[in-house]
Amino acid sequence: MSPTHVPGYLSSQITPKSPSIPPWPRPTELIVQCKARTRVPTPHGPVFLHIYHNNWDSKEHLVVVIDPAQLDENAPPQEFIRSRSLDARWHDEETDMDRIVRGAYVGRLSSTRAAPSRPHTPSSPSPLESSTSDILDSVPVPIVRIHSECFTGETIGSMRCDCGEQLDEAIRYISHPQPSPRTPERLVPGRGAVIYLRQEGRGIGLLEKIRAYNLQDMGYDTVAANLMLGHGADERGYEIAAAIMRDLGLDTEVRLLTNNPEKMEALRKEGIIVKERLPMVPRSWSDHANGTGRLGGGLRKPGATMIGGGAARGADLEKYLRTKVQRMGHLLELPTPAHPQPTHDIVLPTAPSAFVKMTLSPVSGLTPLPTRTQREP
Ligand SMILES: [Zn+2]
Repeated sequence: MSPTHVPGYLSSQITPKSPSIPPWPRPTELIVQCKARTRVPTPHGPVFLHIYHNNWDSKEHLVVVIDPAQLDENAPPQEFIRSRSLDARWHDEETDMDRIVRGAYVGRLSSTRAAPSRPHTPSSPSPLESSTSDILDSVPVPIVRIHSECFTGETIGSMRCDCGEQLDEAIRYISHPQPSPRTPERLVPGRGAVIYLRQEGRGIGLLEKIRAYNLQDMGYDTVAANLMLGHGADERGYEIAAAIMRDLGLDTEVRLLTNNPEKMEALRKEGIIVKERLPMVPRSWSDHANGTGRLGGGLRKPGATMIGGGAARGADLEKYLRTKVQRMGHLLELPTPAHPQPTHDIVLPTAPSAFVKMTLSPVSGLTPLPTRTQREP
């Protein structure tokens, strides 16, 4: 494990930190509540951002719900992805305006339109227990991605990991129109959610992740660095994600975007029914990353890993991606020698022509992601 180029006196000891103390004893029953919801336009289309509180930690976990049919007055009748705790009436004095301001409304808000939602009742069907086969047949099974916060990868475009790209790819993929289950020749809006958990650095927090990065610069991989700092290789938990999925009615049948078998198992233990796993292939490992001629002058160069950005390749990123497969059991095929390991960082900008097809390598036997299309710069 110890790289040969690290001086011996350095590799010997890291002073262990005192264990962190939870702010309060964790209640037996986990309760989540959506406190607010709003429409946010993104490069991939409109989404609804949800803010969740819970009684297990003091963090604000987020959900990006992609269900644009909710904004379409002409959409056929269907059950939407909605939070039961948000649509609930919180107390007797709560006015319709109170409820609308926190996001408990239907359709799209405007200066002339604001309709409060109705509370979900146990007798009313959940989105996936709908009474009519019409509803079940006309909308695809929702796609869910459980994503853990990564300030470095998502906000400042760090190319030490692929978190920014994965977040962007998840929103893009879920937003992509999909064939109607009943009439496959007809495309219907994509639907699903990205559960965004505030567990930075595989759960060790930003401060400890920064320390781990310095160990990585000395030659240790992401797993070894975490262990040397006294942490587990992965300290994330998915109980809160599962509770949020239940609140959104996403617990009875979903397709899960992940390469991580531990995430699949964690959800299964929580009683979430995953109908299908959809793999996420890193853009730098997919065929489009080998394309040449996209780095020429005059092209727009968007953020490499930001929402709506292109693909990034780099030595640090390559090492991180390989560690996830070789040391953490992620379900991906390593790229062939046709994808040489980069020795320096490059960014693939958005291609200049519209509708550039980017083929993503599917894992055999699994549903491939739709091809990526890009807009004019
Ligand atoms: Zn990251």
